[in-house]
Amino acid sequence: MVSTAFNPSLEFAQILDSKDPLQQFRQHFSLPGKTIYLNGNSLGLCSREGEASLLRVLNEWKSMGIGGWLNGDQPWFWMAEEIGKLMAPLVGARSGEVICTGTTTVNQHALLSTFYAPSGKKTKIVADEKNFPSDIYALKGHLKMRGYDPAQHLTLVPAEPDGSISEKRILEYLTEEVILALLPSVYFRNGQLLDMERITEAAHKKGIIIGFDCSHSAGVVPHALSEMGVDFAYWCGYKYLNGGPGCPAFIYLNERHFGKEPMMTGWFGFQKERQFDMSLDFSHQRDAGGWQISTPSVLSMAPLKDALDLILQAGIEQIREKSMNLTTYLIALVDTLLSEPPYDFYIGTPTDPEKRGGHIALRRKTDARQIAQSLKSKNIITDFRSPDIIRVAPSPLYCRYEDIWIMIQSLKEIIDSREYENQPESTMPIS
Ligand SMILES: *Cc1c(COP(=O)(O)O)cnc(C)c1O
Repeated sequence: MVSTAFNPSLEFAQILDSKDPLQQFRQHFSLPGKTIYLNGNSLGLCSREGEASLLRVLNEWKSMGIGGWLNGDQPWFWMAEEIGKLMAPLVGARSGEVICTGTTTVNQHALLSTFYAPSGKKTKIVADEKNFPSDIYALKGHLKMRGYDPAQHLTLVPAEPDGSISEKRILEYLTEEVILALLPSVYFRNGQLLDMERITEAAHKKGIIIGFDCSHSAGVVPHALSEMGVDFAYWCGYKYLNGGPGCPAFIYLNERHFGKEPMMTGWFGFQKERQFDMSLDFSHQRDAGGWQISTPSVLSMAPLKDALDLILQAGIEQIREKSMNLTTYLIALVDTLLSEPPYDFYIGTPTDPEKRGGHIALRRKTDARQIAQSLKSKNIITDFRSPDIIRVAPSPLYCRYEDIWIMIQSLKEIIDSREYENQPESTMPIS
């Protein structure tokens, strides 16, 4: 679409918006002030539906007290399972394989407690040097807990010179001593989408358990986790899923592992129908729910229900298609308007749309931080990742082609006027 008729005018952006089959979804979201919001990969926005969902549960608490557990409109006691069911088709999971629970890193710990099971020569974990640091911290913790030195037993696949991770190189690292590999679906910095199917197949050939952190793809890239045979996955609810800051996260557990034992155990993982027997002998629910630990955060889980309904209404395939079109459009504008001096921007994300997630890494060798700050002073919300990446995430349910056009024009102005030179060196950890 974009490549044939592309031109860099505002009118062209507006034509694309007028033809956008998802355009009506934007009005469901609260856009903060008059901002151009291109940061949905860090924190998705609040939808009217999500807000209503939260207020409904708040009112149930007010009017029913403890009665809400069984008598809420969506009884709180089954909320984690129900939201898991809504989520399942978005990642290609079967019923029972997805549960909404905990938080991202806590879920990773819960899964590792089962799946990092070193035996004999198989003791090593493979990850990569570009994954989100929290994932690596958790892996190191599990190695130490089992008495293994992470320096010997955690192997990180090195990045290529352009900052990407090569699938071929990942496969080289899947050796006989490896028991578990953990990788992201989409890289949080450069937006690269891994070929999960190829990696899963290769891992299984070597008897390696494969897990994915899908935080940067859930809700914007459809997955086929069960069909691919992925062993486990987890992801947060507050990025493209728009569940709200710090809302509960998700666990995917392939059904062939339902009989395995959770080791970070707690009473919410007990067999659902017998949880209130209060037996001292733990017996886990034989599905992903068995990996829950404690009472769910009902209030922060509440917005997810209707936020997910909205995504299901739009359709994950349609969301993916718009996402690819938005990022393709962004890349075309950068190539046309911002690639030559004095602009000097370049794209740090794979140019093949099938090989990227929902965001673009816009790179510039100098002054990228100050430029991101200048954008912010113009109410254009992106973020900066050291040393030279401005991340731009046009979340398909509420972002327009025109938003991207405005951002590109603003970047041009910021460079033309050199106003970024007046931005103070930031000491804030996040933009
Ligand atoms: C956002 C994100 C997380 C977040 O972890 P929390 O435990 O929710 O703070 C973890 N991993 C990846 C890859 C992420 O993108």
